[in-house]
Amino acid sequence: MESRINQISRSVYAVIGPEGSTNFGIVKGTDNSAAVIDADIRRIDEIEEALKLTGCSKVSYLIDTHEHFDHTSANFYFAQRGIPVVASAGCAEAMREEGGADFERMMKPVPELYKRFPGLCLTLPDIVFSDSKTVVLPGATLHLRYRAENGHSHSKGDTTIFFEEEEILIAGDLLYTEVHPVTFFGNIPNWLTALRPLFECHYQQLLPGHGPAVQGEQAGRAYFKKMYDYLEDFHGRMVEVKAGRQNAEDVARHMVGGAYASFGKTRMVQRNINHYLTGRWF
Ligand SMILES: [Zn+2]
Repeated sequence: MESRINQISRSVYAVIGPEGSTNFGIVKGTDNSAAVIDADIRRIDEIEEALKLTGCSKVSYLIDTHEHFDHTSANFYFAQRGIPVVASAGCAEAMREEGGADFERMMKPVPELYKRFPGLCLTLPDIVFSDSKTVVLPGATLHLRYRAENGHSHSKGDTTIFFEEEEILIAGDLLYTEVHPVTFFGNIPNWLTALRPLFECHYQQLLPGHGPAVQGEQAGRAYFKKMYDYLEDFHGRMVEVKAGRQNAEDVARHMVGGAYASFGKTRMVQRNINHYLTGRWF
């Protein structure tokens, strides 16, 4: 399946990953410069193609919504071209402390990329902020806000981006739509707390980290609520499993049925459960 490039407003394009894989955002300034939001080195051709198709003449910033490999592994590629990489201090710190091992693990299936991009390595952001930062392109004001509750929600770097002029909210992986989330890097109780203020946010369009974009605040709120309920449900059940009062097979069955039966990436459910119980990778 191929990615789709969705124009979600006059100046914002989303590369919607196939089958719930990572979304990338392109915000285009009135001078045709661009801010790219998240980029995975394994899908750099899609990103370059999208920049071409959308008529962007140069990239002025790469913004990482958080530290995970599928959002930051192309930092090297852009940094090598002299493009500043912007991220929260939480994201930078997580990359510094844990990113190396994660980068190596994720690169194992794609060693050819080391040949294609000599020197390819974990590359930290070079513009780092604590709580908030404004990134400006001609005609586009982007408000970045750090939202990792207590330093750890979906990730340690969770940042949302609000494009003021066109009222677009880019939620990163705090929000997944229509697909099972990856919870095993996260702290679910903190993630729940981080989601609550997002119910009240104002926007015209909403772009999650994975899954289709959402039109309008009302539909967006329903998606945030669904995400919240999913995480609360999953976490509550896993606490019971750990206490020996429920079994993991029943939880797995529950999470792929009922209210979540339409969600894609069902393989994530078992991985989330296994990691929750053992702390190991599967
Ligand atoms: Zn993530």
